Amino acid sequence: MTLSLASLPQATQDAVAATRERVAALHAELPRNGLVVWTAGNVSERVPATDPDVPGLLVIKPSGVSYDELSASVMVVCTLDGQKIDDGTPDSLTPSSDTAAHAYVYEHMDEVGGVVHTHSTYATAWAARGEEIPCVLTMMADEFGGPIPIGPFAIIGDDSIGRGIVETLRGSRSRAVLMQNHGPFTIGKDAKDAVKAAVMAEEVARTVHISRQLGEPLPIEQTHVDALFDRYQNVYGQGEEAATA
Ligand SMILES: [Zn+2]
Repeated sequence: MTLSLASLPQATQDAVAATRERVAALHAELPRNGLVVWTAGNVSERVPATDPDVPGLLVIKPSGVSYDELSASVMVVCTLDGQKIDDGTPDSLTPSSDTAAHAYVYEHMDEVGGVVHTHSTYATAWAARGEEIPCVLTMMADEFGGPIPIGPFAIIGDDSIGRGIVETLRGSRSRAVLMQNHGPFTIGKDAKDAVKAAVMAEEVARTVHISRQLGEPLPIEQTHVDALFDRYQNVYGQGEEAATA
């Protein structure tokens, strides 16, 4: 039987409503930052747990709806196996075709609270070549702690995209993976954090590409990468906006 949002505890319904507001607002960041065209791209967020008896839930963009029409009320609610629940939206509103990949990540990485997928131009250009982005910028060391890795070639339809993301990012410092011939997926502690990673991944993909046109970028010594990552993630843990500026 399909889970009904209206039958869940009030605290869960409130958490879903707040998550829908956040996810809807964050979708506007994708076109604003030039990461998507048409209806491509998607943001999801894990609904904060409020009741041990309620299964884990995620909120994600509906499939095929234009960015101008993405309000909180059309955000789709799914269980962590990617199945839409009776969330008050019409049946015609189906979850993003990438939902299975997002759901797989939440099921297998407890620390992840947000997932973003785009086909942003420069990051996807690296993915098309199956080449990781080398860590040649201090902001890459800060944000990603090393190179941005390539994930396996995988086709939509089963859990192979999700599995490829998890297998590549588990044990990596990077919050971004470039799925080969496809594009970037990013993760974060929440959806905002994952959107930031998507914006930063595209920025460093573009900068390193341009640097390559001028010659061979200089690698950063591992000890410096480690120190930069540690400082940014820990010392600036509370003030990431300031550290980015
Ligand atoms: Zn895609």
